[in-house]
Amino acid sequence: MSFYRIYRPQIISEIDNVSVREQLLTLLHKDKSDLPHAYLFSGPKGTGKTTAARIVAKIFNCTKLSKREGPCGKCEQCVSIAKGTNMDMLEIDAASNRGIDDIRTLREQIGLTPVSGDYKIYIIDEVHMLTMEAFNALLKTLEEPPPHAVFVLATTDAGKVPVTIKSRCMRLTFSAAGKDELTSALVRIVKKEKIVIDKEALGLLVQAADGSFRDATKLLEQLSFHRGKISEDTVRKTLVLSEEKILNQFIDALMQKDVKRGLSIIGQLVVNGHDMKQFLIDILQKLETQLLNDLESEEIREAIKRFTQAYAELRISPIPQLPLELAVIEFCGEQTYATPSQTGLLTTEKLTEHWTDVIASLKSYNHSVAGVLRSSRPKEVKNGIVTIEAFYKFHLDKLSEPKTKEVLVATFKKLFGEKTKVEVVLGRN
Ligand SMILES: [Zn+2]
Repeated sequence: MSFYRIYRPQIISEIDNVSVREQLLTLLHKDKSDLPHAYLFSGPKGTGKTTAARIVAKIFNCTKLSKREGPCGKCEQCVSIAKGTNMDMLEIDAASNRGIDDIRTLREQIGLTPVSGDYKIYIIDEVHMLTMEAFNALLKTLEEPPPHAVFVLATTDAGKVPVTIKSRCMRLTFSAAGKDELTSALVRIVKKEKIVIDKEALGLLVQAADGSFRDATKLLEQLSFHRGKISEDTVRKTLVLSEEKILNQFIDALMQKDVKRGLSIIGQLVVNGHDMKQFLIDILQKLETQLLNDLESEEIREAIKRFTQAYAELRISPIPQLPLELAVIEFCGEQTYATPSQTGLLTTEKLTEHWTDVIASLKSYNHSVAGVLRSSRPKEVKNGIVTIEAFYKFHLDKLSEPKTKEVLVATFKKLFGEKTKVEVVLGRN
């Protein structure tokens, strides 16, 4: 088991993040039956949101809850929650399949009473990744939750959670961990694992973790394999090695046109909560160095172009890794790897919601088309066909041009990952 799992805080007093600890303690002021039934935890990756979510589950189901200190961490409920085997706690990762099936199951089972505890706790991680449909289903449940149901939603991007959901939740904000907080978390592990590390090395580790408890713990775990005392120099080498290694593997996959490997590296980075923007910057820097060594390389120039474009698209992409994935697929040549065609991802609601993103994205291709789209609207998405409603005949003509349609199809594919057809109809103004 990894350090992060072993040493993740189990009770409130073990939480190093002071503000989170205090926010959780305030929950103890009330009787359980008076506590809110929905919580939204927002903050950067690795700041302990899911850890705190489990502690909330314990607050509701611990059989020896203390009014001053919270859950005991030792009773059967607390232990099984910590292990992730508690039948009354359901953890859903919205990032994995965008939650459609999970939310459906949740709605079907929500009426069931708890198996062993007083409450059923539903933890939904990366809740902003849910589809519109899943959000709507969730909202219905939040509007009239059964008395035994508690929801803890966690997100790294609260801006993408619909206001209708937010307004029904008690919000807790998780800020990036401070240097002292990270240090005390690491020192605890260092002592238990009997790791020998000097102060400067620990300082560098804290700095590299960039406010993330998870990153800090992972780095320390990696270093724990080192024999003898860990110095600042050891840390530096390890840091460079791990980042360099991933980057080199990625560039290597690109040059070999190995789409599968390229995508799997991205997938791994996503799972580890890596920042896609930073990764893109690192790729571009690496490619630039290579280009300067080999000015003639058409291939490197092509890669730089494609990944610079991905960087620009990142800002408007609803899914952070999507532009990067598309860049890999396009650079390596689509024919070498048939992407599974996903259908049903794009809905009328979603397109309407992101219509301004579509316009923004198109602007770089063609200003006049973007202008026309601004005074048109998405009418319907059905059976893979996007129907756009234009309100002037000359808008209809412009959007119906094969070239314009092609650009629209490419934009939808780019933003929503789905291949569609485009139809334009004239609406009444
Ligand atoms: Zn307990």
